[in-house]
Amino acid sequence: MRDKFPIMKTYEPKQKPDPDNLEFGTVFTDHMFLMDYDEAAGWYDGRIVPYSPLRLDPAAAVLHYSQEIFEGLKTYKAPDGGLRLFRPDMNAKRMNRSAARVCMPAIDEGLFVDAIKTLVSLEADWVPDKPGTSLYIRPFMIATEPFLGVRPSKQYIFSIILCPVGPYYKGGIAPTKIFVEDEYVRSVVGGTGTAKVGGNYAASLKSQVKAHSLGFSQVLWLDGVERRYVEEIGTSNAFFVIGGEVFTAPLGGSILPGITRDTAITLLKDWGITVREERFTIDEVYKAFDDGKLSEVFATGTATVISPVGHMRWKDKEIVINGAEIGELSQRLYDGITDIQTGAAADKFGWTVGI
Ligand SMILES: *Cc1c(COP(=O)(O)O)cnc(C)c1O
Repeated sequence: MRDKFPIMKTYEPKQKPDPDNLEFGTVFTDHMFLMDYDEAAGWYDGRIVPYSPLRLDPAAAVLHYSQEIFEGLKTYKAPDGGLRLFRPDMNAKRMNRSAARVCMPAIDEGLFVDAIKTLVSLEADWVPDKPGTSLYIRPFMIATEPFLGVRPSKQYIFSIILCPVGPYYKGGIAPTKIFVEDEYVRSVVGGTGTAKVGGNYAASLKSQVKAHSLGFSQVLWLDGVERRYVEEIGTSNAFFVIGGEVFTAPLGGSILPGITRDTAITLLKDWGITVREERFTIDEVYKAFDDGKLSEVFATGTATVISPVGHMRWKDKEIVINGAEIGELSQRLYDGITDIQTGAAADKFGWTVGI
């Protein structure tokens, strides 16, 4: 049975944005989900209220010691008008793994998915239906106990907000330019790189700004110890097609386990393509390029689904991959995944969930 949440509706519905000019993460819907936690009471008072600023004590723990985690997923409108979620149970599980890593309380997986379904149903009018558009869902949890001192908070808020988003690439998928970061690192084994915790992203800004100033759109992260092994691209997982086989870093304790990563690996294997989840170095990638074996590089993530890489610079070596055109496998994966998400193709793995 679905969890039931009281709904307080807004008296001032907002004007919906122009469906042809949707950006990513700038416009939010009329309502949000909120739920409180207290060490003694556990989670209580799950509810839907008008979208509004949160009231926080200036001493709230999140503002000082960054106890914050989040998730990201999307709702798609199917050709028949029905709304679908894509693998939301994976987000629920990952949220709880992130929570455990930074000593935050778990949320019942069924409640997590029910809260999303209830909120999205209420905001169904906000789900855009042009090709490539969707309603992005952002669940997050913050520590709210007012105290200064480093220990886990005893109070938290869990919230879900929604934003209608356009196709990540206006005018079709354009391959990106990637800067291989060999100065700053994102993650080390034993750190928080496998969790979606806010602090990771604050720590990554410096190299993102550096890459932008050099004319690149994203960073390729190397391992934090030797700075040789390829790990991720920005906030996406990284894939390399070398000699007809697909290589991606293994989930060895410093990689974020992307749901799109898992989806891509499953589809590739289903298509009979060899996927190697193995450690490999940036030198090996450049060697493969020199040998004419590197045919495609792409990143996977909920926001972009598949993002092909056209240029890559490591130290002073800049290479152009596949003539800076989207590769065959990248395109096939993009179409394969988005067709399942929107209901245009059969969902043989049972990944989509109707609302
Ligand atoms: C969210 C995220 C990903 C991609 O995960 P998806 O579940 O595919 O959206 C990859 N790397 C990092 C660092 C991330 O934060």
